[in-house]
Amino acid sequence: MLEINSLSVAYGRQLALEDVSFSVRQGEVVALIGPNGAGKSTLIRAASGVLPALRGNVRVDGVELKLLSPAERARRLAVVPQARNLPPAFTVFETVLLGRTPYLGWMGQASETDRKCVWRALQHTQLSALAERRVGELSGGEQQRVLMARALAQETPILLLDEPTTHLDLQFQAEVLNLARSLANNHHKAVLMALHDLNLAGLYADRVVMLVHGRTQFVGAPHEVLTEHNLTAVYKVPVHVMPHPEYGSPLILPDGRSPEPVEGRGEAQP
Ligand code: ADP
Ligand code: MG
Repeated sequence: MLEINSLSVAYGRQLALEDVSFSVRQGEVVALIGPNGAGKSTLIRAASGVLPALRGNVRVDGVELKLLSPAERARRLAVVPQARNLPPAFTVFETVLLGRTPYLGWMGQASETDRKCVWRALQHTQLSALAERRVGELSGGEQQRVLMARALAQETPILLLDEPTTHLDLQFQAEVLNLARSLANNHHKAVLMALHDLNLAGLYADRVVMLVHGRTQFVGAPHEVLTEHNLTAVYKVPVHVMPHPEYGSPLILPDGRSPEPVEGRGEAQP
């Protein structure tokens, strides 16, 4: 279980997160949503231990994250970051094998188990055919899946994903999110993912945390958080919310035919 307790994080003197608290249980997918600059990536980075807390803390199965060594941390949580800084000369296989670093012996040699684990992660992300390709030659979407595969190869009980669908087309968006869902359902992982797309959050998450200006504005089930009232207030545009025809999860559409021009955004149509 991942617990975020009264967490505040600052960049210099600028507060980016203020008093944020929520938890992600094993088997649960929690979506982190909110406007650009709300603090989603900051929270993912703080939850992974890359950014220090100004106040509050992050706990993993009751243990404070900052008390764990980097290897212990990497055996408990894996991250798919938003920025892709992959060494371009490495092959896909070598890059995903990096996910096994926290398990390698003192010689740093990968075992048969490590290699099997990498192949499994490549299979899950439909990358097997690209295993020998250099990462620098891949498309943005393929690189995104390499990051996902590297995180899977880490075999951690907690997964942190920062906008894992950004560079993906519809097919791979669905595949990455179905994979996240199935890792929670079938492998009992705790999944926290920052998502930009409210519809995908509504469809895939058990709970939604809405951040605004670094604070938790709403936390709850998708149908509780993703309401016309809440979204219009946060995103400052009128929206329609209707239930998904099959699943009943909230579907969100901007009010595209609003007769009122939004101030500063062009002229009203005659
Ligand atoms: P989101 O992922 O929700 O778009 P971020 O977590 O990236 O938001 O950013 C939250 C706030 O922190 C923004 O105001 C952003 O400008 C600021 N910020 C993010 N990264 C840095 C950084 N490395 N240094 C200084 N400020 C940052
Ligand atoms: Mg971000």
